[in-house]
Amino acid sequence: MSFSSLGLSPALISALKTRVYRAPTPIQSVAIPAALQGRDVLGSAQTGSGKTLAFVLPVLQQLENSPISRPRRLHALILVPTRGLCAQVGEELRSLGTHLSQPRKVSIVFGGVSINPQLLRLRGGTDVVVATPGRLLDLIAHNAIDLSTVATLVLDEADRLLELGFAEELGAILALLPRQRQNLFLSATFPPVLEAMARDLLHEPVRVELSSEPLTAPDIVQRAIAVDAGRRTQLLRHLIAQNHWTRVLVFVATKHAAEIVADKLRKARINAEPFHGELSQGKRTQVLADFKASRVKVVVATDLAARGLDIAELPVVVNYDLPRSALDYTHRIGRTARAGESGIALSFVNADTQAHFRLITKRHRLNLPLEQIEGFEPLQTTSLIMPSGGGIKGKRQSKKDRLRQAAGLQH
Ligand code: ADP
Ligand code: MG
Repeated sequence: MSFSSLGLSPALISALKTRVYRAPTPIQSVAIPAALQGRDVLGSAQTGSGKTLAFVLPVLQQLENSPISRPRRLHALILVPTRGLCAQVGEELRSLGTHLSQPRKVSIVFGGVSINPQLLRLRGGTDVVVATPGRLLDLIAHNAIDLSTVATLVLDEADRLLELGFAEELGAILALLPRQRQNLFLSATFPPVLEAMARDLLHEPVRVELSSEPLTAPDIVQRAIAVDAGRRTQLLRHLIAQNHWTRVLVFVATKHAAEIVADKLRKARINAEPFHGELSQGKRTQVLADFKASRVKVVVATDLAARGLDIAELPVVVNYDLPRSALDYTHRIGRTARAGESGIALSFVNADTQAHFRLITKRHRLNLPLEQIEGFEPLQTTSLIMPSGGGIKGKRQSKKDRLRQAAGLQH
């Protein structure tokens, strides 16, 4: 199953090419086509199963298919239980929404902050609102939001919305929504109150219920990305931003590289620290503590960090430089997906390291396709960097290629 078989528009398919997603997750592959057909959806799947995109993509596609009016009409209302989730979902809509043919307005509203800036920003209407229930009702009372045009209602983390005592507020909001609408309810668990509410509100929903048992075996998605050596830092920055990664462990080959890469990230205003054997024990402890407390987003480490380091909730490990051996590869990627969580391990591969990478994957009987990220397609090819004398006739390196190669070999 691929994203292109879900019925998504070409604009959204190309938006997804900026991400490292290979295929839709199970909940996405059921919920997205159903939602695109206008069906109600009731989906429950464990945290981390990709529920956000399961409703964000259909909502964006619906926007793309509806004309922009002045003032803007509210098409979709997304209710979430917390302020943090509000921001996260809103960012996802905005970031993928930039690929739509016309800019759409996504408004994020939550309580605990002054209402005035929110009132100002809602002038002229909005296409989508992502809200916590209480503040939404306040804004409705100020005539800043009109729910009568809503075509799609999303409840994200519906179980928590019900459990956090929002029942009364939810009831008030539902009473203001048109009866004729699409409902997309997503949840990590499926308590009886949710079942009861779904029975009341949903019309012949497509149901997806995936086990909410924690995974027992580590679930590490391994990916290999082809990128020229000289563009790895840029790609890393791109991936961190696009995927909203909050904690990334990056492996490099040398202490020097750890310092340089961490430095480059810091210059790009990403909180990064090197981690290697030349740092004092005190400094190393400090870096790990900061990493665990989310004061540091990226740790750039040598293989010193590959063994033994146990950080809960480390979703991403990146092999910026490949490990020396197949065994080191196992140790490195084993830093993610601890304690039944899922994780992703990415390896950057270039023309020079491709053969070495094949040896590692062969040892592990892995068949990892070399993927490319749009905008970072490698320019170097193996034939261009054959050692002199071994080149293919007629494919001698041009000066430009040699310069490119030299640039690519530096960090
Ligand atoms: P949930 O809401 O189910 O807890 P999220 O939607 O927050 O999960 O997604 C969890 C993580 O998985 C996010 O970092 C997201 O970018 C990533 N993700 C979403 N869809 C995919 C996919 N199809 N392939 C790989 N990663 C994905
Ligand atoms: Mg979620």
